Amino acid sequence: MSEGTVLIIGAGPAGLEAARTAAQLGANVVLVEKRDRVGGTPDESNYAKLTHHFRDADEAIGELAEAATSHPHVQVLTNSQVVSVAGEAGDFRVGIQNGAGAKTVHAGAIIVATGFQHFDPGRETQYYNYYSFSDVITIADMEGMLKAHQVVRPSNGQPPERVAFIQCVGSRDRQIGNEYCSKVCCGIASKQAIEVKQQLPNSRVFIFYIDMRMYGYWENELYWPAQEQHHVNYVKGLVSEILAKDDRLLIRGEDTTMGRPMEVVMDLVVLSVGMEPSQGTRQVAEILGLEQNKYGYIQAGGPTHIDPVATSRPGIFVAGAAARPSDLDDTFATAGLAAARAVATLRQPVMA
Ligand SMILES: Cc1cc2nc3c(=O)[nH]c(=O)nc-3n(C[C@H](O)[C@H](O)[C@H](O)COP(=O)(O)OP(=O)(O)OC[C@H]3O[C@@H](n4cnc5c(N)ncnc54)[C@H](O)[C@@H]3O)c2cc1C
Ligand code: SF4
Repeated sequence: MSEGTVLIIGAGPAGLEAARTAAQLGANVVLVEKRDRVGGTPDESNYAKLTHHFRDADEAIGELAEAATSHPHVQVLTNSQVVSVAGEAGDFRVGIQNGAGAKTVHAGAIIVATGFQHFDPGRETQYYNYYSFSDVITIADMEGMLKAHQVVRPSNGQPPERVAFIQCVGSRDRQIGNEYCSKVCCGIASKQAIEVKQQLPNSRVFIFYIDMRMYGYWENELYWPAQEQHHVNYVKGLVSEILAKDDRLLIRGEDTTMGRPMEVVMDLVVLSVGMEPSQGTRQVAEILGLEQNKYGYIQAGGPTHIDPVATSRPGIFVAGAAARPSDLDDTFATAGLAAARAVATLRQPVMA
């Protein structure tokens, strides 16, 4: 393999889709994943069902993985990490380390698809008491419960009667420096609220929000069905703290529609944590010498400022949530574009 190779770092939805597309366009692909399996965060965090159409996450991600990894021109290196890069567009030499040792891969173009991590709600916003109360969980934790059909209060193993989602945890927050909207959490909370009502029809489910941001078709697919068919209660309010009340949880804040203080008792509180760039995204950006924005995401835009997959370095492209908070539609769209650009670079490195 030489200049006919695209090296892709990260085998989540973005890396898998980019690998499949680049291979279908005729490139050899080396797909480097640091975990022992492909599938990315949806696999690692046990997502239950995905938008669109409440597809089973294992099934959907499994199909994606199969399409990429079964292609004869895709070589998958798991338990592997990029440790160095030299050269330029058309002729990169990439050092890769795994348990068996180190090796160098020659590649004409590189795609970074190292993704995101969930915001840690104990880090800056202690008033949610995530690490103090076991019945305060995150949307990532809830995915695992839904998948196991075990939506229970961790404190006593009993199904909750009242469940509250709290939006914008770790996003749209100037105090902690994450001013951006994480884009998926309003939709995901609504999706999970529907699933909770399906699994626990007698429960009451509330979503506390600043303002709901449902992108594109999620408005009709999630937001209105949650209210009209599943009787989820949306409350415009600001939550200031979560306290213990007997063996339950007290949410204290302000109902901003009514303009008055609010105190409600819940059995289970789900924090809609936002997205942050993964550790891997930050590390790979350093190793590859790529500009990052103030949040640590890889700076996309290129010389035109409007190219969603161009990085600060010609011949290196970025896909999916390594560049910005992304849903799967965004992820696949940028992955396909990055693959096309990478293959074009193999053919015309000077023009890339
Ligand atoms: C709770 C929750 C539920 C969601 N549900 C939906 C949904 O239903 N529908 C939807 O459209 N979107 C959903 N999303 C968004 C979706 O998860 C993302 O769009 C998608 O995972 C982004 O894919 P990615 O490949 O860019 O990143 P990731 O999924 O984060 O994958 C990145 C991959 O890169 C690997 N990696 C990282 N660093 C390195 C390194 N240094 N070397 C090698 N490999 C590395 C990681 O191990 C991982 O495999 C949800 C998000 C959350 C938080
Ligand atoms: S998607 Fe919704 S919950 Fe997530 S940051 Fe944006 S407004 Fe807040």
